[in-house]
Amino acid sequence: MNTDPTINSICIMNISKLNYNGGGPMRKAKMSKAQVDKKAKTKKGYKPEVSLHPDYPRNDYINWNQFFMGVARLASLRSKDPSTQVGCCIVKNSKIIGVGYNGMVNGVDNYEFPWGNKGKFTETKYAYVVHAELNAILNTANPELLKGATLYCTLPPCNECAKAIIQAGIKSVIYTGGWREEDYHDVARRMFDAVGIDLAEYKEYKNDIRVLR
Ligand SMILES: [Zn+2]
Repeated sequence: MNTDPTINSICIMNISKLNYNGGGPMRKAKMSKAQVDKKAKTKKGYKPEVSLHPDYPRNDYINWNQFFMGVARLASLRSKDPSTQVGCCIVKNSKIIGVGYNGMVNGVDNYEFPWGNKGKFTETKYAYVVHAELNAILNTANPELLKGATLYCTLPPCNECAKAIIQAGIKSVIYTGGWREEDYHDVARRMFDAVGIDLAEYKEYKNDIRVLR
């Protein structure tokens, strides 16, 4: 990557590509504050819904998983890959420590190197493109923080990224896009299982941040 992909710069550039269904303006209160307070007192664990009263915190905000996968999805939009845009976000203690997407090695002319995926290996992108997960690992400001971190990615990792994930000390991997039955994904899963890295499919939520493509 040629630029430092901070969250702010990605958001400013690509927010129009997102389909965010949650949030929105607060709706009109259906109950008075006194009614809500009374219900909260009598019903254990009662939490007023977002539409009930403006004096209470809204509860339709996205959770951490949605936020971090949303950042990974946003990062994928930076990729110039014509067939597959992949994004990745690495998190430690609810703080983002690395973001990446699949792209050519730094410093090369994007039009001089191949982007196709068929034919002789040296004439395909596979020889030159760095995967999102590896880029996110390499982009971290402090590699020490990767130990025990969680990696969010918009595709299941391949075996090469799995090696880097393991060597970096990352402990959990959450992927979306469905599992893929290729050998390099199976090898990745096998290595994760062997070293005790949690591999989980991301649970989609109704109000998730999604990329419209
Ligand atoms: Zn990979």
